[in-house]
Amino acid sequence: MQTRQLINGELVDGAGEALSVVDPSTGSDIVAVAEASDEQADAAVAAAAEAFNAYSRTSPAERSALLLQIAQVLEDNALELAELESLDVGKPWPSAHDDEMPLTIDTFRFFAGAARTMTGSAAGEYVAGHTSMIRRDPVGPVAAIAPWNYPLMMAAWKLAAPLAAGCTVVLKPSEITPLSTLRAAELLAGVIPKGVVNVIHGRGPTIGDRLVNAPETEAITVTGSPATGMAAMRAASAQIKHVHLELGGKAPVIVFDDADLDAVAETIRYGSFFNAGQDCAQPCRIMVHDSVYDRLVAATEAQVNEIRIGAPKSEGTEMGPIVSAAQRERVAGFVDRARGTAEIVCGGQVGESDGFFYQPTLIANVDNDAEVACAEIFGPVVTLSRFSDEDDVIRIANAGRYGLASSVFTADVGRAMRVTSRLRYGFTWVNTHGVGTPEMPWAAMKGSGTGCDMSVYALDAYTSIRHVMVAH
Ligand code: NAD
Repeated sequence: MQTRQLINGELVDGAGEALSVVDPSTGSDIVAVAEASDEQADAAVAAAAEAFNAYSRTSPAERSALLLQIAQVLEDNALELAELESLDVGKPWPSAHDDEMPLTIDTFRFFAGAARTMTGSAAGEYVAGHTSMIRRDPVGPVAAIAPWNYPLMMAAWKLAAPLAAGCTVVLKPSEITPLSTLRAAELLAGVIPKGVVNVIHGRGPTIGDRLVNAPETEAITVTGSPATGMAAMRAASAQIKHVHLELGGKAPVIVFDDADLDAVAETIRYGSFFNAGQDCAQPCRIMVHDSVYDRLVAATEAQVNEIRIGAPKSEGTEMGPIVSAAQRERVAGFVDRARGTAEIVCGGQVGESDGFFYQPTLIANVDNDAEVACAEIFGPVVTLSRFSDEDDVIRIANAGRYGLASSVFTADVGRAMRVTSRLRYGFTWVNTHGVGTPEMPWAAMKGSGTGCDMSVYALDAYTSIRHVMVAH
């Protein structure tokens, strides 16, 4: 199994502590991967800084060609990469291979096109005898930090946009799910110019901290928890760096009395328990109009009871394990604390095998200010609560700190427009939830982050606006 890191074009063994990578569906070790040493992390940053000189001056067409080549290499090796992803995160095989790989590959193809669209917004004579132009130039070497829930797709989001913009990158995948990213690094070592992409392995407080604080990195991009986002902002504030954050979420799903309840229940089944609910956009906080509340709870319970839990490769598995013992304990803790005040409709127990399984769980009659309604659980747990008034439900949905995903279910177009315009979330779906495409921003507001991944707007995090004026 490939466990080496990519530093300045070379694949090297980590010189730091060996960290176990665990199969969540059995609880046993897959392999140990040695963390980078401080010197190796510094060497990766130095390589990205050195490579920036040449890479930042490549033409958009050259960068586009590189991104297309990356996409092709990933596509040619999709089966193997999906195997690693499924093993490392416990993802059901169809999710890893059929759902995530195409999106991962398409991210690079999209940014291959986006690389050629960057424009400054004005050029002309704004002062007599002077011509001004606006340039949009690469911001500098980027420190990129990725989470464990969609390791390779998040690596793609953290690499494709900066590469399109002309930036070099040092990427640190999560220490608990590094396998697909390390293998991709090996596959791409022959394609990507030396130092343009470096991949290092290690824990957040050690190698992650060293990376975001490295003076040569000019921008930090993090997908992870709010705590890591704050650590990145502190690091950036000490040296004044650009920061792009995609952090946690707590997506409200607002269900009005005219909604198609069967469609809502199906959306919850397939959206809320995808990836065992470990998804920043997970539809997890269902707010239901009083008049249809009981019907929706019953319809959702019927759908959720049909979810087949199992090993990633078992036939028919719809939901796999939670990624780690610690994350399962955290999820179980939320459910246990809710038992006294809300109704556990189904689930609420750990699975029976050695893996980190947890039953898909619905919690009903949840108060709007209950912990399970407000905090990000990041597991297969969904809450249902009631509302009776449109203004009220918007106020409650907007009250929390998170501002990532949200959705509204109604047959009334006017109401959909009214409510979506008032929700303070980076993205809002109407009559669906969770559908993504690289052309559209995965955008964050409030405590969920700054800026967005995907779409041409993702390039903003990796470019600086510059003014050049010529006197004549
Ligand atoms: P995490 O914050 O624990 O870890 C994410 C990454 O940050 C890991 O690589 C980790 O090693 C690193 N890290 C931790 N502390 C650090 C530090 N002090 N300095 C530098 N790096 C550090 O998050 P996680 O548990 O891997 O992922 C779950 C979280 O990610 C959830 O909150 C989820 O909502 C969020 N997430 C958000 C999005 C999005 O697009 N908004 C997508 C996926 C996941």
